[in-house]
Amino acid sequence: TELNHDQVQKVSTLVSHLFQVDQYLYHMRLSDEELQDISKRFRKEMEKGLGVTTHPTASVKMLPTFVRSTPDGTEHGEFLALDLGGTNFRVLRVRVTDNGLQKVEMDNQIYAIPEDIMRGSGTQLFDHIAECLGNFMEKLQIKDKKLPLGFTFSFPCHQTKLDESVLVSWTKGFKCSGVEGRDVVTLIRKAIQRRGDFDIDIVAVVNDTVGTMMTCGYDDQNCEIALIVGTGSNACYMEEMRHIDTVEGDEGRMCINMEWGAFGDDGALDDFRTEFDREIDMGSLNPGKQLFEKMISGMYMGELVRLILVKMAKEELLFGGKLSSELLATGRFETKDVSDIEGEKDNIRKAREVLMRLGMDPTPEDCVATHRICQIVSTRSASLCAATLAAVLRRIKENKGEERLRSTIGVDGSVYKKHPHFAKRLHKAVRRLVPDCDVRFLRSEDGSGKGAAMVTAVAHRLADQHRA
Ligand code: BGC
Ligand code: MG
Repeated sequence: TELNHDQVQKVSTLVSHLFQVDQYLYHMRLSDEELQDISKRFRKEMEKGLGVTTHPTASVKMLPTFVRSTPDGTEHGEFLALDLGGTNFRVLRVRVTDNGLQKVEMDNQIYAIPEDIMRGSGTQLFDHIAECLGNFMEKLQIKDKKLPLGFTFSFPCHQTKLDESVLVSWTKGFKCSGVEGRDVVTLIRKAIQRRGDFDIDIVAVVNDTVGTMMTCGYDDQNCEIALIVGTGSNACYMEEMRHIDTVEGDEGRMCINMEWGAFGDDGALDDFRTEFDREIDMGSLNPGKQLFEKMISGMYMGELVRLILVKMAKEELLFGGKLSSELLATGRFETKDVSDIEGEKDNIRKAREVLMRLGMDPTPEDCVATHRICQIVSTRSASLCAATLAAVLRRIKENKGEERLRSTIGVDGSVYKKHPHFAKRLHKAVRRLVPDCDVRFLRSEDGSGKGAAMVTAVAHRLADQHRA
């Protein structure tokens, strides 16, 4: 079928709009060569974080977790778990029975953490956590039991053992006073003591990446990396003890919480950061911190798109130069909108719906351009994750001295699980960047809930063996 003059005109305006967006966001579209460069830089950062003399000033902290073994299937008992730092705050009870086949039963409850508590005093936060825990135990009628508890606390922490965890700095939407530099186990214990109506035995504090590795490691013994791309982003992996200068001992492996969100905090990514990345950072709760996370994770993705839309409109490249107060408001364009827009085959309809909700009156060209901007921002996120993962895979491959590495990566997080194309793009990019690795991606089932309980169960089993 031939197109008439009008149709040709329309198609060519659409195409030229796309071309314009691609040009405009040139610095956000990363080639494999650039990704390999980023991968190499990250590899250097990993080494800095592990070295005893370089660790203090390293931006990627490579924190030892004191988790060395994954579940072996003989764990059993009743455990509590807390999950703080993801999309929701949750309290869980996990019952693990082990008669032949291990079975895991879970009850859990989501509790809201109001924004004023997220940015208030630490005392308020931990009182709130203790209150939710008390409420949960009351409901399950287990207030009279002193159960072992695992705490998934998804922030950078210095650990010297499994049940001591000193917060390095808050990230994402949290900023409570008086917690940085303190042991969060002590803070919870004190909050529970202040109440005095129940008691628990805090056995382990784990990062959500570590919890994810524990749940995936249970299904697949090759799981030695875990990745989170949700509100925040981070990964952990199993490192040889002999390479961890900051912990004594040379035998076996230990899980390292990399805290890769802080990659770039020393300027290492400055040539890849755009004006939009700098704007996001300046408007954040933690300027100058978590610069890599801000280029990737769900807390910032929608906002990045919004900043681009606003800037392009101001330059009269979009929306005929018009802007609505809603589109000008921080946070109104959500990461979920990015997923929705890209999830629709028709690249105009959903974009129009979102833009209309924000008080705009977009042309089809504006909608196609918006769709394209979403694609570029979310693809960059997947590509950047692939670049850092590639560095981790290469490192493990070298550690093992293998010709070909077979490895499994456990994954969790709202961006990975809910964005319609993120996972696929990430997998493809990793396989392109490290063709000599056979990588399996395994979606974690509730790593940050069940995972903390599993770490607790393992610690409990080991303690039992010790006593026996
Ligand atoms: C935190 C990490 C966490 C990640 C994913 C980051 O902001 O620093 O500890 O693993 O978010 O939740
Ligand atoms: Mg989580």
